Amino acid sequence: MDQVNRELLSFIAASPTAWHAVEQLRQRLLREGYTELREEEPWELCCPGRYFTCRNGSSLAAFRLTGTAFPGFLIMAAHSDAPAFRIKENSAVEAAGLYTQLNVEGYGGMLCASWMDRPLSAAGRVVVREEGRLVTRLVDLDRDLLLIPNVAIHMDREANDGKKYQANVDMLPLLGTARSAKDFDALVAEAAGVKPEDLLSKELNLYPRTPGTVWGAEEEFVSSPRLDDLQCVFACAEGFLRAQEGPSVPVLCVFDNEEVGSGTRQGADSSFLEDVLCRVGEALGRGGSRLRETLAQSFLVSADNAHAVHPNHPEHADRNDRPQLNGGVVIKYNANQRYTTDAVSAAVFGEICRRAGVPVQRFTNRADKPGGSTLGHISAAHVSVSSVDVGLAQLAMHSAYETAGARDTDHLIRAAAAFYGCAYRIAGGKTEL
Ligand code: ZN
Repeated sequence: MDQVNRELLSFIAASPTAWHAVEQLRQRLLREGYTELREEEPWELCCPGRYFTCRNGSSLAAFRLTGTAFPGFLIMAAHSDAPAFRIKENSAVEAAGLYTQLNVEGYGGMLCASWMDRPLSAAGRVVVREEGRLVTRLVDLDRDLLLIPNVAIHMDREANDGKKYQANVDMLPLLGTARSAKDFDALVAEAAGVKPEDLLSKELNLYPRTPGTVWGAEEEFVSSPRLDDLQCVFACAEGFLRAQEGPSVPVLCVFDNEEVGSGTRQGADSSFLEDVLCRVGEALGRGGSRLRETLAQSFLVSADNAHAVHPNHPEHADRNDRPQLNGGVVIKYNANQRYTTDAVSAAVFGEICRRAGVPVQRFTNRADKPGGSTLGHISAAHVSVSSVDVGLAQLAMHSAYETAGARDTDHLIRAAAAFYGCAYRIAGGKTEL
């Protein structure tokens, strides 16, 4: 396996939840010499300087300052969360008098069938009591612990004729037999390194244990849980770190809760990005209309995976815009503005990719399908800058095990590095790059 895919898959494996993904990025940024800023403390910024801040432990914004005379911010945004099953706080349930299961509810829109008959574990965050204070800890039970069994074909002869999954019945994972199963909270407390009475609350998700792999006749595919959107998070972060310094301030933004509409304190539909940019502006003596001027000289790339043409069902794709795995970065269009791409922003991003030698392709929904939405237009409502929606082509989006092109991560890393280092500026209504 080449280095990019090895690093991508190890990042995803170490990121079973959004909190873990942000912690991975946090550790990486600290290793690269970035200083962590806390939202609840004053920010004193130095130029040059490298900084990041986190919100809720599951969203992150990082930026570099080289001088005070920058034209604007060049921002890339991706999301840290993925569809999963959330384990309820009071979760143990007895089944058929024989088993212990966990009670769960869905987070986001997953393909339910893909979660069955594969080993699962649980990870997330807990709040524990530590010397009289409340402390948040990440936990990962990190073993084959749970499984959601299918019903045998002999007992459900219609199983292959289209199935409706009921989350409170069909999707409950098995933890053990009624006799042997340990108390789940005791397992969580043990993983968190505290006594059960000091475990105050928890937010834990199921996650698939199947490791990522590179495969295909020419090793052209990469499959893993959570490629949407950790593949883009990884590529944007790599591009951000590798970029040559350009005149603008590079900003890496990772938002949680995209899969449930972004409307949380740390989602794209919050003040997070706006708060960060305002505080950077103020620290550098750019408040009020100077900040507005700076934002008008800024550009946002929203990076979230796109649908490749499906081998068995090519009819779902548009007639002309047919993204391929390994075909390069996908620019996403939607007339109803669920994607923010317009003629200007598509030309800007396309030109940056062309100069960097990165292939681009286009995605539009087949016109009778509403399609998905993503971060760009939600974020743009708060930080109204010129923006484009892009992503990497993939199959089986929202499956527990997704598939993408093994060479596309590198395409997005190179596009991101070129974007962050470019000389984007609006002069007399014309775009300079
Ligand atoms: Zn996504």
